[in-house]
Amino acid sequence: MDNKLVILGPQGCGKGTQAQMLAQSLGLVHISLGDILRWHIEQHTKIGTRVEGCVAAGELVPDDLVDDLMKYRLALHDWNYGFILDGFPRNTAQTQFLLESYQLDASILLDVGEAILLERLAGRRLCSGCGRDYNLASRPPVVPDRCDSCGSTLAPRPDDAPEIVRRRLRDYGEKTRPVLDLLGKRTHVLVVDASRSPQEVQDEIRKRLGLPAAASASDSRVMGSLL
Ligand code: AMP
Repeated sequence: MDNKLVILGPQGCGKGTQAQMLAQSLGLVHISLGDILRWHIEQHTKIGTRVEGCVAAGELVPDDLVDDLMKYRLALHDWNYGFILDGFPRNTAQTQFLLESYQLDASILLDVGEAILLERLAGRRLCSGCGRDYNLASRPPVVPDRCDSCGSTLAPRPDDAPEIVRRRLRDYGEKTRPVLDLLGKRTHVLVVDASRSPQEVQDEIRKRLGLPAAASASDSRVMGSLL
């Protein structure tokens, strides 16, 4: 089974949701660089202080720091287990670093148009306490503006503001698309239409990776909680 995966796509395409669905039902580790960076910011580490401005402005943080963080995170990983990298690599230099050092099986690109992305991002909310992700349209909290897990208040992500999103999408087009050419030389690349429901997107990814199509009862519970 392909179990060293990369998932790519523009902000708001559903990378995190799809990565978690694959990870939880297939026993893969979900490694999100965005989550790692947000953890550093929340914990007031030196790295957090260094990247806070970049992340809030929706700019890519410097490659040397990204490479160090990913090298450290991947060195911790037990290579007998699969993983899915979410949000990394995002430019040519990061891709070269990744491919020089590690063997991957497949890359998944989630493809969605700008209008749908802007609509989805307008409803995205993040818990200020535990970082859990919500969407007011598709995954709202039980109590408005309160996290179901820890009760803290929900807030929009600063980098989801429309003017920042437009710049991130331009950045994505320029920097991330060439990543696919490089990944395509060393891994199987699937381009998946991600404008559909999370379950439909997940079904197509599984089908095209040759993974079991039908979710088990426990898979359904996991997926249900994510939709
Ligand atoms: P994400 O949660 O993947 O949308 O990432 C949130 C923010 O973290 C991005 O806007 C960047 O500021 C930073 N970031 C995440 N991944 C990377 C990366 N591969 N390279 C540089 N910056 C990144």
